[in-house]
Amino acid sequence: MIQDNLKKIQETIPSGVTLVAVSKTKPAEMILDAYAAGQRHFGENKVQELTEKQEQLPKDIYWHLIGHLQTNKVKYIAPFVHLIHAVDSLKLLKEINKQAKKNNRIISCLLQFHIATEDTKFGMTRAEVEELINSDAYQEMENVKLCGVMGMATLTDNESRVREEFHHLKNEFEYFREKYFSDTDQFSVISMGMSGDYQLAIEEGSTMVRVGSSIFGQR
Ligand SMILES: *Cc1c(COP(=O)(O)O)cnc(C)c1O
Repeated sequence: MIQDNLKKIQETIPSGVTLVAVSKTKPAEMILDAYAAGQRHFGENKVQELTEKQEQLPKDIYWHLIGHLQTNKVKYIAPFVHLIHAVDSLKLLKEINKQAKKNNRIISCLLQFHIATEDTKFGMTRAEVEELINSDAYQEMENVKLCGVMGMATLTDNESRVREEFHHLKNEFEYFREKYFSDTDQFSVISMGMSGDYQLAIEEGSTMVRVGSSIFGQR
């Protein structure tokens, strides 16, 4: 079933879009099923669950931390994490840089933007991101690499609203890429779209979708 679901989704995703299979709450056997079908990018939203799965599962999996990350937990994932999606403060980025340095790594990160009209979701505004990037602390960081943006749309069946929110994130991405990263190609990721809205997200420019329940079933 998982392999069929994956295949169906892969068929609807253009080649330039990375599919992150969100395996949170699902057992390792299910991840191995997807792995056997060729899937290598997996996303988790809890640090403890992520580290437990990373220990048990094949070492060539690219692990994405997609959920809110507490500063005091960065050290547990710093040795292996492939991409941290939800950087929402300078304080968190400082800690990622510190732990990356300890592990002799450069950790790739995405800036989480607040794009939903709901106030329950984390994320920064353009002004906050601007302040982060312009800070002396960020300028001095050598062990983090900002690779793009991430956002979560409002949970609603109002399609035009979701589309607008994705469009907004794409605009923010373009703004920051042109202003701060125009001389490099490191800033290239737009992480947006989940099971319910990834097709819309791709139409609005997503380069990375995070799909859970459509692959592994309801949680
Ligand atoms: C759970 C989760 C997803 C996947 O959600 P589905 O609706 O199951 O596809 C994507 N992104 C984040 C940040 C999540 O926490």
